Parts: sequence; C-alpha cells; structure tokens
Amino acid sequence: AELDTLDIIVLTAILLGTFAYFTKGKLWGVTKDPYANSFTNANGSKAGKTRNIAEKLEESGKNCIIFYGSQTGTAEDYASRLAKEGKSRFGLDTMVADLEDYDYENLDAIPNDKVVMFVLATYGEGEPTDNAVDFYEFLTAEEVSFSGDNDPPLDNLNYVAFGLGNNTYEHYNVIVKRIDAALQKAGAHRIGEAGEGDDGAGTMEEDFLAWKDPMWTALQQKMGLEEREAVYEPVFGIVQREGLTKDDPEVYLGEPNKMHLDGTPKGPFNAHNPYIAPISKSYELFSVKDRNCLHLEVDISGSNLTYQTGDHIAVWPTNPGEEVNRFLNVLDLADKRDDVISVKALEPTAKVPFPTPTTYDAIVRYHMEICAPVSRQFIATLSAFAPDEEVRAEMTKLGGDKDYFHKKINLNHLNIGRVLEIFGKGQKWSNIPFSAMIEGLNKLQPRYYSISSSSLEQPKSISITAVVESQMLPGREDPFQGVATNYLLALKQKQNGDPNPTPFGLSYDIMGPRNKFDGIHLPVHVRHSNFKLPSDPSKPVIMIGPGTGVAPFRGFVRERKKQAENGVPVGKTILFFGCRRSTEDFMYKEEWEEAKAALGDKFEMVLAFSREGSKKVYVQHRLKERAVEINELLEKKAYFYVCGDAANMAREVNTVLGQILSEQRGITEAKAEEIVKNMRATNQYQEDVW
Ligand code: FAD
Repeated sequence: AELDTLDIIVLTAILLGTFAYFTKGKLWGVTKDPYANSFTNANGSKAGKTRNIAEKLEESGKNCIIFYGSQTGTAEDYASRLAKEGKSRFGLDTMVADLEDYDYENLDAIPNDKVVMFVLATYGEGEPTDNAVDFYEFLTAEEVSFSGDNDPPLDNLNYVAFGLGNNTYEHYNVIVKRIDAALQKAGAHRIGEAGEGDDGAGTMEEDFLAWKDPMWTALQQKMGLEEREAVYEPVFGIVQREGLTKDDPEVYLGEPNKMHLDGTPKGPFNAHNPYIAPISKSYELFSVKDRNCLHLEVDISGSNLTYQTGDHIAVWPTNPGEEVNRFLNVLDLADKRDDVISVKALEPTAKVPFPTPTTYDAIVRYHMEICAPVSRQFIATLSAFAPDEEVRAEMTKLGGDKDYFHKKINLNHLNIGRVLEIFGKGQKWSNIPFSAMIEGLNKLQPRYYSISSSSLEQPKSISITAVVESQMLPGREDPFQGVATNYLLALKQKQNGDPNPTPFGLSYDIMGPRNKFDGIHLPVHVRHSNFKLPSDPSKPVIMIGPGTGVAPFRGFVRERKKQAENGVPVGKTILFFGCRRSTEDFMYKEEWEEAKAALGDKFEMVLAFSREGSKKVYVQHRLKERAVEINELLEKKAYFYVCGDAANMAREVNTVLGQILSEQRGITEAKAEEIVKNMRATNQYQEDVW
C-alpha cells in the first residue's frame, strides 16, 4: 500500500514513540506495524507522554480539555460527546483525557483563554472512580500546592463540571460537589452550573442533555465563540489492510492486548489486562421460567491475582452472535466482517479504544457495547446518515423529542442495531462512517460480581453468584437478555456437556479469539473493595442480603465457619435472606445447614419469602420483627451489612434501622438517623449494592 501524508505522520509519531520507549528502557508495546495504534499497554500507561496538562495543551494546540473520572464508561462517553460537540458546533480544539494520565500541580499554568471540563462519576460509598483517586486526593488535600505562585492559585482557570451519581446512595454526586468546591476555593472560575446526573431516577442521559445546552451558551459568551452548522468530522480513520487476512498472526481477533495476541499473557492482571481463568466448577442454583441463577468458580492459581472475602470480580463478556450479526447487517458490513482494518486516530489526542489491525467482527463482538441503552444525542447525530428522507425525519424527531424517544426506544430496551433496523424500515445504513460508531458507542465494559467465596477457605478459587433474568417488554416479541449473564450461562451449559450452548437462543463465541478460551475459560480481574468482615472475628455481624445480594454473605458465612473449625472464637452471625418461595429460589440451602452444624447457635438465618403468604414479606419486615435483638447487638458494636438492590431494598433497610433505633432507644427519628449516618461514616454499616 502507498503511504499517504497521514501515514507518514503516524509513522513519524511511532518512530518518536519508539525512541521514547527505548530511552525509558521499556520495550513493551513497540510495534512494527506502521498502522497500529499506540494502544494502551497492560498497565494502562503510555510511554513518552507528558503528564503536564498545561504543556500538553500548549504542544497540541488545544484550547479545551475534557477530563473524565469514569468507572463503567458513561463519564468517558459523555466526555467524548462534549469534545465532539465543542468541536463541531463551536470550533473549539478539544481533547479528551483520562484523569489518571496527568498530574495536577500545573492546573494553575493553564492560560485563561482555555477551558477545562470535568466529567466525574461518584462511585460506591461516595468514592472517586479508580482513575480519579489521585486527582481527587490532590485537589481536596488540606493544603494543595500548585506549581506557580498565582494568588489565588487557580485565578486563570476556567472550568466546567458535570457529575454522574445515583440518588439512591447516601453520598449523591459528592465527588463533583467536592471538586467544584475545591476549585472554587482555589479561585478557579466555573462556567455554567455544576451539573448532576441521576442514575437512580433513571434520568442520567436527560440530565446531561438538559445541563449541557445552557453550559454551552455560557461558554460561548465567556470565550466569544461563534456557533456554526454542526458537520460530522470523523475522529478515526479506517484503513483497509489488503495485505492481511484474519489468519495472520499480527491480526487481533478479540485479544485485549499484545501479550494476549502473542499467547504469552502475563500479570499484573487488572482492568487493562484480564486473566483468562479456567472455570473449575459451574452449576445452576435454581432455574425457573424467567430466571436462572448460576454458581461459577474460576481458578486463579495460575495467576498472581489475590482476593479477600468481600472483594469484586470483574467479568469481561463478549456480545452475543445474534446482536453482532444484526449490527453488522444493518450497517452493511456483513460481507466485510472478516476484512482486516487498522484504525488510526486522526488527531493526536484521540485514543483508539481497541488494538489493531483487527476485523469488524472482532471489534463489534469484543470491544463495543452494542447492546446497551441508546443515547438520544447519538440518534440525532445518526439522522444525517439516514437511508432516505422519511427515515431522516423520524430519526430527527426521536433525537429531539425526549418523551417520544423514551416511549419508542427506552421502554422497549432497543439497542443501536435494533433502532437502525426498525426505524430504517429494513434498509441498510451504508452511509454511516464506522468512525461514528467507534466514537458514539462505549467500550464493552467488564461486569462486576460480589465474590461469593471465602479467601480463607479457598484463596486460589473465586466464586460468582449471578442471576440471569429474561424480561418481557410490551413493544417487542423477544425477551430482553443481559450480555454478561447469558455469556456466563452459555459457559455453564458448555461445561456441563452442551457442545453448542444457546441460552435463550443466543450464541456466544465462548471459544474466544483463536480458541484461546476453549469454551472453559473466562477473562476476569479482581477489584478490591471496602466491604469487609470485622478484623476481630468475635464481633457480631448482621447481614441483609436478599436474592443475589446474598453472594458476599455466602463468603462471609463460609469464612466464619472456617474460623470456627480452626478453633477461633466467632461472634454471633445473623443473615437475613429473602426470595420468592422456599421451594423455588432459595439458594445454597444445604450450605446454610452445614454452616449451622459447624457454628451452632452462633449462626442464625432469618428468612423472608415474598410469595408464600397472603402478604408480601421482605427482609426489612423481618428486620423490624427482630428490633430488640438488633438493637442489643448494635450496642455490642455489631457490624451491619447490606448487599443487593440499591433502588428499593437498601434504602428501606436504612429507614427501618433508623426506626428500630428510635423505638428501642427512645430517641427521635432524626437522632436515630444521625446514629445510622455515623455508623456508615465509621464503617460499622457497610453497603455493597448495585
Ligand atoms: P446488561 O446487558 O449490562 O444489562 C443490564 C441492565 O441494563 C438491564 O437489565 C437493563 O435494565 C439495562 N439495559 C441494558 N441494555 C439496555 C437497552 N438497550 N435499553 C434499555 N435498558 C438496557 N449481579 C449478580 O447477579 N450477582 C452479584 O453478585 C453482583 N454483584 C455486583 C457487584 C457490583 C459492585 C456491581 C456494580 C454489580 C453487581 N452485579 C451483580 C450486577 C452485575 O454487574 C451486572 O450488572 C448484571 O449481572 C447484569 O449484567 P448483564 O451484562 O447481563 O446485563
């Protein structure tokens, strides 16, 4: 193939990059492929890049940088959308940046003709996302020291802020609030409001859309920007690699990085580098018409992964074949699915979110979140590429009318492939540049599961307890099926003798790229959590875990059983468990009996079956019935744990606990709530909810 100017630029960049690698003494990631992107290596860092933001903006000629603090990809997605919109509507020179990739003492060196945007998710119990921890700690420290001596230090800094949170959690959107306050305190100037999106109310997308328009107006005034007709400008170039076929060894077929491609995956295994773990055991805990519950164990003895009881395991799923086919068909890419392509960033600050050269099939199957909810803004963007005028008009309406969009798309859980299929009336959307899909769709995210084994009992094996639900919706014929849960179900079926499993009619590429997963391996990594048993085993514990919320408590109970067997004195251990019926979805029934045998009256299970009596009984009702004992245990400094449904159960348990304390201690409800808050602040009350 002939080299065009762009290739020469890319080549030069790679040569420079290579030089930087060698000078740093790091060899990892050096590639001979002139088209290959500088894909993030296994540790997430890129060699030879400055960590000074001011310097970066200066050298790249950008005047708007959008930082994201993202855990599940949504904040990152919003950041790219702001970057695109800023560029296409207002001619800003934008770049998106991972907070982890920069240092912050130079924030004061950013000149006041530029703007910095922060898109920050609040995670778990009011924590910053993993990639934002250093930034958060830097900015909220007692004394923040910036590089220069401006007074106030951030007097030159113009910024914009949007937070992603969930109002069902105690610490709603606290990260954006605290960062906003810290920036103000240091004298920075906010443009527009500090926005807050609420996942709990299910309005995240609409909150974002409603926040950004007034923000753009304010920014336009502040920076004297002129709005222009938005035209789509691709961020990525797609290069057809005529000389390569999918069987060539340098072509990525879904391998997450170079080591996996070369067949020599090495630790550390983490969010950039999964361990392909052998599945040692898998079975169904129960199965009814619309729900299957799985127990699956992976062996981590071949890795350097470790875990502690209460941690999370991340599962890297792949998309079901039927949805991959639908997506490729509707984009008119089905015939090209195995064509080898390279993707290059058309501007130096854009990151290609997967390694190349690769195939369309591998990108869609392994790297793109094609089954997720569709964003209204994306629909508006795609209307420009509609196959005819009528379809364009309908897409414009969907993109512009919030209620219409909700009714037609959200309520039926349509994914992007289905939207294009239905609203394109079966026509192919051959005009959509593939770049628009790479930009517009999230990276396929790992799914987290609360580890249900005890690291004391089995340090080298991790178990997952997951429920596979199938949801009937009014506006579609087939049920809605989750991506990762059905992938796990396919693996379970395979391990139990089905050569070609098709859970609910879905087929997964469980053999993995080049058969590397062999149908019996699962890509995983471990995420450490703060959800932990007291370090003193003699302390009492109260656990509330209905449904799959019981997952970490299986680990807790097994841990205490093991401690008792080792002769360690174990405190009172009460588990509140709830499900529909004792005969239907009561999981781990025999195991609880074994625990009882080992722990004696130290262990007690309190059960709530919601569909057995005339009235629905839930764990929070049972909790209330045991008010006297709960209060006594808490006075003895019992730890209180809640796991499972964040939207309803966890909230109600919190309320009920307040009522119990108020009644038992003869104090006002306000005072009792204060005590509950304090229990949370001191980790006596811990939540693991989703
Ligand atoms: P997905 O495909 O991700 O879908 C999930 C939901 O998103 C759907 O049910 C639907 O409500 C919505 N959705 C998806 N696509 C669309 C669409 N196109 N339109 C509209 N809505 C859509 N689960 C367990 O079973 N056991 C556990 O122990 C457990 N522990 C967890 C611990 C943590 C810390 C967290 C964060 C989550 C935990 N989960 C657990 C939940 C788990 O991570 C997954 O979310 C769950 O298994 C569903 O994954 P999925 O890929 O099958 O579903």
